[in-house]
Amino acid sequence: MTDYDVVIIGGGPAGLSAGLYAARAALKTAILERGMPGGQASTTDWIENYPGFPDGITGPDLMMNMDLQARKFGIEPMFDEVLSIDPLPDSRFQIKTGEGNITSKTVIIATGAQSRPLGIKGEEEFRGKGVSYCATCDGAFFQGKVVAVVGGGDSAIQEGIFLTKFAEKVYIVHRRNELRATKVLQQKALAHPKIELIFDSVLTGILGNDNVEAIKIKNLHTNVEKAVAVNGVFVYIGKDPITELFKGLIETDERGYIITDSSMRTSHKGIFAAGDVRQTPLRQVVTAVADGAVAAVSAEQLIAGH
Ligand code: NAP
Repeated sequence: MTDYDVVIIGGGPAGLSAGLYAARAALKTAILERGMPGGQASTTDWIENYPGFPDGITGPDLMMNMDLQARKFGIEPMFDEVLSIDPLPDSRFQIKTGEGNITSKTVIIATGAQSRPLGIKGEEEFRGKGVSYCATCDGAFFQGKVVAVVGGGDSAIQEGIFLTKFAEKVYIVHRRNELRATKVLQQKALAHPKIELIFDSVLTGILGNDNVEAIKIKNLHTNVEKAVAVNGVFVYIGKDPITELFKGLIETDERGYIITDSSMRTSHKGIFAAGDVRQTPLRQVVTAVADGAVAAVSAEQLIAGH
């Protein structure tokens, strides 16, 4: 059974940054990723608030560079699902994966967060048939079509703007009359000729035959419902942390986010958390990479016996 100094779960910005720092500290380091390398950031079309790129950079390019940089210093990438983490009597951890077991002195959890579903009629039925949670992945299917984006945060507005590259019209449906998104994005959306904002409203259903054909929108002030013809629905109403696997092992808050101290230590000695998965006031690529670096240095110090 291969034994590591550091096993990082999740290959997004936090995981790759932790990998870079751990590998440069000459620790035997594996990064386990069950999906696409780069995490959520890889599905972001354009990132213009990551320092060092004055003209912005695409999410896939930024993440590919982070991946290359971590590999250059010797991390071992493993594309595999983690099934369980079990503390061993000698204070190491056994990590069970789809391919077998590995052990490690420390674990860094960087599993991030996943899209929250709306939980309305038609959403599951039309998933992949017009209902999407990733504009970067599916936007191009809506060339010349009409789409609706649900949500008022950074993701909804940024991805709504991105969808105007393809769609002839983009409705953004938000439950309040004020957007949550950062002002720069709000201004871009409000000024965009292809975007129509529908405030104080929620979706109550997604309708169609083989594919999405319409949405039902309810105005929360008047309670009046109306059907609006659309070909696609992009859901951006926030994220939930991916922490199911760690329940009972480490402390989380009531929403499931992992509680850490400023050294990224969790409630279980030897387990650290970094990035969107932890309880933190800001979830950005820049904060995730900082968390990853801190977690790796904390793991190094623990291993060195400090
Ligand atoms: P978010 O900031 O939590 O926004 C979620 C949006 O969905 C809010 O507008 C919320 O409405 C709405 N919403 C929540 N539940 C709903 C429901 N059941 N029905 C209808 N609407 C609902 O999530 P996010 O936009 O995914 O962003 C997540 C994090 O990533 C944030 O910290 C964000 O700043 C960051 N991010 C940053 C960038 C960037 O900097 N460019 C890009 C993407 C994401 P209310 O406003 O009424 O609560």
